[in-house]
Amino acid sequence: MVVIIGAGPAGSLLASYLAKRSTAVEVYESRGDMRVGEVARGRSINMALSDRGIAALREVGMDEYMLNAAIPMLGRMIHTPSGETKMLPYSGRKGEYINSISRAGLNAALMTAAETNGGVNIHFNERCVDIDVAAGTVYFESGRTVKADIVFAADGAGSGVRQSLERREKGFESHSAFLEHGYKELVIPPAEDGGFLLERNALHIWPRHKFMMIALPNLDGSFTCTLFLAQKTPAGSDEPSFEKLTDAATLTAFFEEEFADALPLMPTLAEDFFENPVGGLGTLRCSPWNTRERVLLLGDAAHAMVPFYGQGMNCAFEDVRELNALIDRHGEDWQRIFPEFEAMRTENAAAIQDLAIENFYEMRDKVSDPVFQRKRELEMRLEQTYDDYFSKYSMVTFREDLPYAEAKRLGNAQDELLMSLCSRVESVADLDIEQVIADIRGAR
Ligand SMILES: Cc1cc2nc3c(=O)[nH]c(=O)nc-3n(C[C@H](O)[C@H](O)[C@H](O)COP(=O)(O)OP(=O)(O)OC[C@H]3O[C@@H](n4cnc5c(N)ncnc54)[C@H](O)[C@@H]3O)c2cc1C
Repeated sequence: MVVIIGAGPAGSLLASYLAKRSTAVEVYESRGDMRVGEVARGRSINMALSDRGIAALREVGMDEYMLNAAIPMLGRMIHTPSGETKMLPYSGRKGEYINSISRAGLNAALMTAAETNGGVNIHFNERCVDIDVAAGTVYFESGRTVKADIVFAADGAGSGVRQSLERREKGFESHSAFLEHGYKELVIPPAEDGGFLLERNALHIWPRHKFMMIALPNLDGSFTCTLFLAQKTPAGSDEPSFEKLTDAATLTAFFEEEFADALPLMPTLAEDFFENPVGGLGTLRCSPWNTRERVLLLGDAAHAMVPFYGQGMNCAFEDVRELNALIDRHGEDWQRIFPEFEAMRTENAAAIQDLAIENFYEMRDKVSDPVFQRKRELEMRLEQTYDDYFSKYSMVTFREDLPYAEAKRLGNAQDELLMSLCSRVESVADLDIEQVIADIRGAR
């Protein structure tokens, strides 16, 4: 029997893929059913869905359904400290944008699709606490034990399966590195008439060097804001941090100073801030993902990353799509598939993990830098003029045909070249665009 641990985005999508192949599959999920519980009634938390994720959804016929429930975000809307805004489109090409989608809505729809189209059983309130790989026995907190030939561990960054492998399997290694920053989710509610209080089709960013806030639109007219800020203030410094924002007055003063245009749009700021927890931001690397051709880690369980490229879920979906391609090639020959999957995906997951950390610094520090803004303007022109030009962001976000590792290699080399060109001119008009594209082609 094939067992999937975790009915998050990766586990539910994998269940649909396997059910479509008529593989009998049982899913075990630690939480209750979100479609009937608290989350269904709770506040919206959203994510950016882009081409790699959409490509995977397309293969199980879920792409259009999901995109109908999403809001296109055509670019980054930068909010300066004095309240001016500037839209930096994600691409100069038509049709290249990202989509804001409800995390719970997406997950619920994937679970329903696996159940109704594939006849998959999802067992809720079943937390996996241990696994005996040699015997093929999975242990749950409830006392249930399950025999499995094959186990897919899609149980997220805190994976119970991975922790069990760490305890039991010689040579299994796992390492998490955390940024000094944490995050907190806040809300901009809809306007009284149900409309949007900020531009609807944008990902809003308030970059402030040492910290930043972002906001993504929801279908009901609200925005989910995420404040990324240091957890602690280093000794001897007066930099803001979560530990310093201890009461409503300090919080309001901080927002008045830093996010003055957003503050009047956030009537429940203090309530949200003091009710919601501070989340950590970590990169998880572990090895091996394949244990004895019986257990395979994928999605966040194998490679959780910081959220700054909006790729964690997209990468997890790509894992599932690539796994399916291997099943197409080899049939259900897991002895061949598991090692091949690990060999193929490790390098690509590591590349997007690195890019996500780099993008944290880009979003926080560089988007307000004039050289960076000139570079974005130049990239827009290049994308509008040359079919073979893709910015690094486009390669990662809109090129499902390009492995992440290749996007990282090409993108970083190209960025270096363009930043250097843009630092030498006052205006993009001063550059010879034919020469620029010739230089880029020459460097590939
Ligand atoms: C602030 C933030 C913003 C993000 N924004 C984006 C974005 O814009 N775009 C994007 O692509 N990604 C984004 N991500 C990343 C994305 O959330 C994850 O990469 C994605 O959820 C991974 O899916 P998963 O199914 O592998 O893991 P998870 O979503 O963690 O799902 C794991 C599932 O397993 C269950 N589970 C856990 N432990 C056990 C156990 N022991 N036994 C049984 N079940 C268990 C959990 O309840 C859950 O249902 C963001 C992440 C954060 C923190």
